[in-house]
Amino acid sequence: MDHQVEAPPSDPRRRVPRTDALLRDPRLREAAARLGEAPVKSAVRQAQERARRGAVAPEEVADTAVALLPRTAGGLRPVLNATGVLLHTNLGRAPLSAAARRAVAEAAGPTDVELDLTTGVRARRGRTALAALRERVPSAEAAHVVNNGAAALVLAATALAAGREIIVGRGELVEIGDGFRLPDLLVSTGARLREVGTTNRTTPADYAAAVGERTAFVLKVHPSNFRITGFTRAADITELVPLGVPVVVDIGSGLLAPHPLLPGEPDAETQLRAGAALVTASGDKLLGGPQCGLLLGAQDVVGTLARHPLARALRVDKLTLAALEATLTGPGTPTGEALTADPARLRQRAERIARALGADGVDVRAVDSEATVGGGGAPGVRLPSAALSLPERYAAALRAGADPVVGRLAGGRCLLDLRTVPEADDERLAAAVRSAAGR
Ligand SMILES: *Cc1c(COP(=O)(O)O)cnc(C)c1O
Repeated sequence: MDHQVEAPPSDPRRRVPRTDALLRDPRLREAAARLGEAPVKSAVRQAQERARRGAVAPEEVADTAVALLPRTAGGLRPVLNATGVLLHTNLGRAPLSAAARRAVAEAAGPTDVELDLTTGVRARRGRTALAALRERVPSAEAAHVVNNGAAALVLAATALAAGREIIVGRGELVEIGDGFRLPDLLVSTGARLREVGTTNRTTPADYAAAVGERTAFVLKVHPSNFRITGFTRAADITELVPLGVPVVVDIGSGLLAPHPLLPGEPDAETQLRAGAALVTASGDKLLGGPQCGLLLGAQDVVGTLARHPLARALRVDKLTLAALEATLTGPGTPTGEALTADPARLRQRAERIARALGADGVDVRAVDSEATVGGGGAPGVRLPSAALSLPERYAAALRAGADPVVGRLAGGRCLLDLRTVPEADDERLAAAVRSAAGR
């Protein structure tokens, strides 16, 4: 016979509340309506399991389940970017502005993305976002938006150069990141790359010698994540336009007009005014918008791209169009604010937070630091900043916290750089540090 060992009646494990009783808790009912049944049931099961192990009292099971609920319906968790890298690829590059976030929420339901509400007939998809783009870049006769910067290049190469040649300087055959190489991308479209010049020096004459019947366009790629210094020469747009073939410029970062703090960073307006037939860029780098690829340029060129069958496969959804338009027309973006933040103000904030945390017994001090733009552009640009300096072990604790913070390690310390933290999040940052310190 099977003799099961029964828990005595007084054993707390017998008093673990049942699932159906727990699911009637108003907090868990509300969570199920917001997140779905599955994550709530999972939190309940974990809480019951803890009670069976004796880790929590039976009376605490409901509270434990509530504490174990995920904050969001998906696996993506909001984090505070305290890395000092403005456009952090692993953290989703540009954070959207409040205006763009609202626009995304508003566009989430049925929306007139392809309908003229006055006439009731079909209208051009994303027309207001495209108009906003042209408004910000007056030299662009036309604009088109695709899923990302890479897609913009693929569309340009496919529609304009399949079976023909793209002339490109050897110093501009870049790897974007994660093993992703632009030349591979371009060749995959059926275009042939005609490489000219050398790694460090490419002159207008090199391009001129390569121009021929098979030339579809000359491509200029901005080296957005590295710099070549020393004995260098690159041809700029004004030297290439006279060659008489279309010049396509991949500016990468999405800067629409020159930025005083980023003199080395090319912008769409300047390139087009100088005669570029087409400019491609990302929407989620220095523009500070959603992930997308911008194509700006001459009417006939952009028209050819927009009508190409591939354009349908690369088209953006209404949420992207909404976020892009709000980014273009709305107030400043978090990326723009981080870029222009006053270092003295950053230092004040660091000292204020450090004082408050120090009073709570946290081993913290305010230090000067240097922030960077990141993979999204402006390599070599260092932005003076201020940070909270904590013992190194904080890095892991902050990442694992209920409100995760990602800092950076330097000199055996965990630095939380304030240039990438909006001032409105200072209290949130301090609370996360307190919680990581167990205060
Ligand atoms: C970032 C970048 C790309 C790729 O853009 P995604 O939006 O990441 O697809 C292409 N070219 C340059 C020069 C870039 O900087």
